Amino acid sequence: MKITPLHEWIAQCIGCPAVDFNRTTLERHQLERLNWVIHYTYEHSRFYRERLANTSKTITSFNDFSAFPFTTADDLRADPNRFVCVSQDDVQRIVTLPTSGTTGESKRVFFSAADQELTVDFFKVGMSTLAGPGDRVLILLPGLRPGTVGDLLKIGLERLGCTATIYGPVDDEEKVLRLIRELDANLLVGAPVHLHRLARWDEAFQILPKKQIRSVLTSTDVLANTIRANLQSIWGCEVFDHWGMTETGLGGGVECEAHQGFHLRAADLYVEIIDPVTGQVLPEGEHGEVVITTLTRSAMPLIRYRTGDLSRLITGACACGSFIPRLERITHRVGAGIHLGSGLLIQSMLDEALFQIREVLDFSASYQKSTLSLAVRIFGDEFESVEKAIQNSLRQFSIIQSEMKIKISLAENPVQGNPVILHKRAISINH
Ligand SMILES: [Zn+2]
Repeated sequence: MKITPLHEWIAQCIGCPAVDFNRTTLERHQLERLNWVIHYTYEHSRFYRERLANTSKTITSFNDFSAFPFTTADDLRADPNRFVCVSQDDVQRIVTLPTSGTTGESKRVFFSAADQELTVDFFKVGMSTLAGPGDRVLILLPGLRPGTVGDLLKIGLERLGCTATIYGPVDDEEKVLRLIRELDANLLVGAPVHLHRLARWDEAFQILPKKQIRSVLTSTDVLANTIRANLQSIWGCEVFDHWGMTETGLGGGVECEAHQGFHLRAADLYVEIIDPVTGQVLPEGEHGEVVITTLTRSAMPLIRYRTGDLSRLITGACACGSFIPRLERITHRVGAGIHLGSGLLIQSMLDEALFQIREVLDFSASYQKSTLSLAVRIFGDEFESVEKAIQNSLRQFSIIQSEMKIKISLAENPVQGNPVILHKRAISINH
């Protein structure tokens, strides 16, 4: 098994000779960078000058750092300009994130050219886990504008010697599969459900030659075990998962060949896990909310930013041989899901249940008055048998009580041959 390429790269990033590179030297470096970001933001960001006014500006341990105040998504929504540490001329890209809060304000995240370069570098090294010179990669993520995730990924892949083509999110399975065939693409990058739709379509209509797809990288959404297993069995490919969000600088962490958590880009990010209720840092290995501090960003560094993602840090060295910290798969987000008498129903449970059924291409879910409503997009016209299969599959979960009503309908498909895309993956809760 190949050691994660992040291992050697992070040693280089922090200027540490390979023989001296260990967890202690990495943590020493992270502590230095935390001191840097505290000073830098206090000097240059109006937000942090105020927020850090009453805290010591020098820390000597991670424990000291755990006393620092959090930054929240609401802070980013309230006035993102107050975070910015560089002049407007030095801002290369501003990402506006659709709001999920109640204020109606959008979050905005600013990047300098140097920040984007850090991301390109991470994409290049992270992708070298599965890609190398001569590979043909189709990117099924947004990427038409400069500085978007697909655009930076393409630059990183080209530096690696790959040919990279940006398509964007999958809107038409048939068209995308024909393009994959035409390009002879052997690697795909996309959202798990999008890749899964392609695989199911290919399984049904046999568009790609056997073994054309060697590996896929899933990103932007939680990867259900069922989706991973289906991609592997349909295409015979290896599936690598990636974790990241705009706030982490698009990239955050990527699986190695051991597939046991995301190795973090630890020279650029310091990750803590906190109790989402008390805000206390949890001992390593315990589940809680992921909190990030950026260690190298210049335009809009973030200190103790609460991501809302729930996960844990995996203790011990990875089977690949690296000690680079690993984040376990995200289960769900703080506040997501539906509280039922017997526990919490989360999107990933629905993914596991529904994607076991061959005919299901995609679905959206909502919950109201003890009724779980699912709008499904399926193959063929055997809706009744698919409906029965979904009911049975869902009842496997004890959390879905027998008295809970499940209403299943077909997703609207307004234009023949132009499939509906169910963008909304999170369960919506209507009270
Ligand atoms: Zn590993």
